[in-house]
Amino acid sequence: MNTLKADDVRNAAQKHGWMDIHERLIGNRLDGRIFQKAPGRGRSVCPIHGTSKSNGRGDGFRFFKDAETSGGGVCNTCGKFADGFRLLMAIEGWTFPQTLEEVAKVVGLDVGSGRVRKDAPPPRVRPKVEAKPPNDTFIRNLLRRAWAEAVPVTDPLAAPLMRYLMRRKLSIEPIAGLKNFRFHPSLDYVDDDGVVVGQFPALLMGVSDALGRPATIHRTYLTENGEKAPVEEPKKVFPLPNDRSLVMPVEHPRFDGMMVDGGGFIRMGEPQAGVLGVAEGFETALAVHLATGMTVWPCVCADLMERFIPPEGVEQIVVWGDLDRSGRGREAAQRLKASAWDMGRKALVFMPSLSIPDNAKGIDWHDVWVMHGQAGFPRFRTEQRAVMPMAVGDAGPRYTDRVERNLQPIHVQGPCSTPQSEGIRGLIAEPSMRSAAPRTGLLGRLRNFVKF
Ligand SMILES: [Zn+2]
Repeated sequence: MNTLKADDVRNAAQKHGWMDIHERLIGNRLDGRIFQKAPGRGRSVCPIHGTSKSNGRGDGFRFFKDAETSGGGVCNTCGKFADGFRLLMAIEGWTFPQTLEEVAKVVGLDVGSGRVRKDAPPPRVRPKVEAKPPNDTFIRNLLRRAWAEAVPVTDPLAAPLMRYLMRRKLSIEPIAGLKNFRFHPSLDYVDDDGVVVGQFPALLMGVSDALGRPATIHRTYLTENGEKAPVEEPKKVFPLPNDRSLVMPVEHPRFDGMMVDGGGFIRMGEPQAGVLGVAEGFETALAVHLATGMTVWPCVCADLMERFIPPEGVEQIVVWGDLDRSGRGREAAQRLKASAWDMGRKALVFMPSLSIPDNAKGIDWHDVWVMHGQAGFPRFRTEQRAVMPMAVGDAGPRYTDRVERNLQPIHVQGPCSTPQSEGIRGLIAEPSMRSAAPRTGLLGRLRNFVKF
């Protein structure tokens, strides 16, 4: 007789792991690949309704991210199945007692006594399948195509970006003339399984590696209305060619023969008067620039920011840290400050002094800008000018010589072509720095950047 209690089976199933149970019971009804990926990542033709596509393929079904303990899954058409029992009932057409029995068999729960048998089968150890990295040609073509299909951020097509910035009290002006900023009117959003989820307008930003070489493209997916696109990760970085990395060993600027990890960054304008601001995100960097006039380079994330190596000609960096509940933003800012001093540069950190709202993970300088405008920022610039009145040098990448001698880089991003700081709320009187490289036509400069 079936004396199984639902709670006993549920507990035993959780202990055993639902993914193994599903693989044994319904594995033949799903694309095998779905079990080789972390729950939530893999997709399959729906085992309940199949697919509406004429070729018989489809990707409507996936397990929940917590499916190992919940056993649940969802189909875009059939809806959600909160736990493993409900999912099995729907797929196999079993009754609840039947389902309990089938699960009990797999996990080794004795149907008579409700106890786990000594000879219960151990869960299968799932081999971790590493996704095969796409080859370089594929990646380079991907990058080139996205870049070539994009338009300048000032193009009328870039209206969604304008709206996005306006919603955030930001302006396009500082990036208007930068050749490593582009706008794609309709860029594929591809999920982790290589499935194209849809097309969205996107801001493209060229990301440089620690040596200043173009490494990859950062994408911010938007809606036509200028909101973040309704996708799992609206901000993504394209994969990198094998000879590029966003963290790479470079020679310590002060100690011969000593290597340090250098992080990638987005070259948003040229440093002014030997001063360069650094932030994690693009919106933060732009807000600080609008508030203070300082050139600020976004480093994408805390991990890259703390490894930032100030380029040649930059005597002082100002770190505009994110105030996270986790403390990670502050930690990264302090580490960068310490390493900058270690490299013979002056460095200071500014953290927002507001408290983190209850519903937020943190607060950054962009939030400060939205809430308090310029008044929320330290009066940094005036003081800085008194300390650093020296002439502006060529703020090219720090390793230019070595790069050109040994690495034959694809053209390092040159200075911005437009005086990006000019006229921004009248904060900056002087024109932006002179160009260090001979000017080429717009196309020529774009081509330079596109050679990833
Ligand atoms: Zn379905």
